[in-house]
Amino acid sequence: MADGPFVYGRTGNPSWDAFEDALGALEGGAAVVFSSGLAAISAVLAGLDDGATVVAPGDAYAGTRRLLLEAGARRRLTVRSVDVADTQATLAACPGADLLWLESPTNPMMAVADLAALTAGAHDAGCVVAVDNTFATPLLQRPLALGADLVVHSVTKFLAGHSDVVLGAVVARTVEAREGLAAHRTLHGAIPGPMEVFLALRGLRTLAVRLERSQHTAAELARRLATHPAVEIVRYPGLAGHPGHGLAARQMAGFGGVLAFDVRGGAAAADAVCAGVRLIVPSTSLGGVESQIERRNRWEGEESTPAGLLRLSAGLEHVDDLWSDLSSALSAALDPRT
Ligand SMILES: *Cc1c(COP(=O)(O)O)cnc(C)c1O
Repeated sequence: MADGPFVYGRTGNPSWDAFEDALGALEGGAAVVFSSGLAAISAVLAGLDDGATVVAPGDAYAGTRRLLLEAGARRRLTVRSVDVADTQATLAACPGADLLWLESPTNPMMAVADLAALTAGAHDAGCVVAVDNTFATPLLQRPLALGADLVVHSVTKFLAGHSDVVLGAVVARTVEAREGLAAHRTLHGAIPGPMEVFLALRGLRTLAVRLERSQHTAAELARRLATHPAVEIVRYPGLAGHPGHGLAARQMAGFGGVLAFDVRGGAAAADAVCAGVRLIVPSTSLGGVESQIERRNRWEGEESTPAGLLRLSAGLEHVDDLWSDLSSALSAALDPRT
């Protein structure tokens, strides 16, 4: 209605407000909901001037990497690729750059970045800092409290939590930054449907119990996988042997519901595991109520991910049922004659 609180469906509606208030409160900032995680990431990158420089993880989420690659190829942005687990090397790339993009833990390598140290150093170098907090969620890690300027989410994953919507969000430290992002959403039209946002708000209500169950299961599966003869490496920050374990223990309130592991025998063996599971769902998403598994290297642009690496998102099933499913598929992959 003209002069009412909601002028037109592209500029705002009550479902967006309710979700943004909830997510903003959880992250400690001001949220803007977008039609997907990638729309949220695009909105942040669109805020950069032409010719700007971005420092980003070499193992960032594949969609982020492709967006940056494309912006680089068209000479809109210059991209400096770094290993965000290496604080010194990452900070060495920051002088002269405009944005430091971070992810922690990274998808799917599970590398842990020192968010407080990187943010402080990047700010000294004059960079804005954005953190993709999809894996941790605000219940385990609050990047704005560690100094970051922007937090990005694929709401599709743990926040909505039921594999039934695609949605994204940016949470800004300042109301001014939030207004800029909301204006971008209005003008570029990357708007979510109110029904999807309602579903995400409903999902958010059970995030705490879902995540507690999911990360408890992920930790237990990580421990059991580490002893399985078909597994070469388990990548989970909750394991004492993970290079980012100490940092994650300080920085996070829990290690999360996602892990990755490398299957002995490479791509063929890992594919056999995905084909062999009955309870776990082979799928490219994560953070749902059902456990999900995927060989990431099957996708174009994922060539740097080890061929036999499987990413596993722990759902809400009983851990013994999951282990029975996974360990039989692994044993069959190790010895195809059984
Ligand atoms: C899935 C994902 C995205 C992209 O989100 P969509 O909702 O699929 O557009 C971004 N970052 C991370 C870490 C993701 O896992």
